[in-house]
Amino acid sequence: MSFRATILTLYPEMFPGPLGISLAGKALAEEKWRLETVQIRDFAEGKHRMVDDTPAGGGAGMVMKANVVARAIDSVMDGDSVADERPRLLMSPRGKPLTQKRVRSLAEGPGAIILCGRFEGVDERVIEGRDLEEISIGDYILSGGEVAALVLLDAVIRLLPGVMGNEQSGETESFETGLLEHPHYTRPQQWEGRSIPDVLTSGNHGAIDKWRRAQAERITRDRRPDLWKAHLEAKSEK
Ligand code: SAH
Repeated sequence: MSFRATILTLYPEMFPGPLGISLAGKALAEEKWRLETVQIRDFAEGKHRMVDDTPAGGGAGMVMKANVVARAIDSVMDGDSVADERPRLLMSPRGKPLTQKRVRSLAEGPGAIILCGRFEGVDERVIEGRDLEEISIGDYILSGGEVAALVLLDAVIRLLPGVMGNEQSGETESFETGLLEHPHYTRPQQWEGRSIPDVLTSGNHGAIDKWRRAQAERITRDRRPDLWKAHLEAKSEK
């Protein structure tokens, strides 16, 4: 069974969006992954189908109602959270920052149920009551969880079996080795007075690997002291 994504959103028309083209789009057409969207508003009651309400305790903005969101979640699991083993994710700036490691573990699993927040967010009780895992895509505020869900899915889909043409290109990618990736070059040899480093055209694969490794270390050390520190610690534990 292929990876199955179910998106709970007030804007289902945002999907597949960019995931309908290129690699992800082709993989979707070939059913290497599956996408379902659920309109949260379909689970609201009354003439006005209210999905949000004012925050308890006052303050700005609106909060997505627990009962409406819970009904939407329950509908995709047929009320049976045991049979549906997919993780239930809530895109949220308060969540654990998304990492390549989590992306990989999601790609190895059956899929994901992804709740996209809007307004100020969702009633805390539905996060607890439906055991939602909050995931953030970075320290900034988006207007809704949909773009965050697209980011997460894009990262997952390219790792699914048969999606990326060159399987190997995933392995030296930034973050996969704990280092940022080395620089890339392609022809022509000379461009605006800049040349491709000689070693890369030497045909000496040992020297090329060594050069790439040194470059990856330099770039990581200069740009991401946090990653560099973690890399050194991991190395000294070995
Ligand atoms: N009031 C909230 C922000 C709400 S933004 C706060 O200060 O924490 C509205 C919705 O956008 C959120 O419910 C979430 O689903 C989504 N969102 C915003 N920023 C995000 C981020 N960095 N990562 C993931 N989702 C995000």
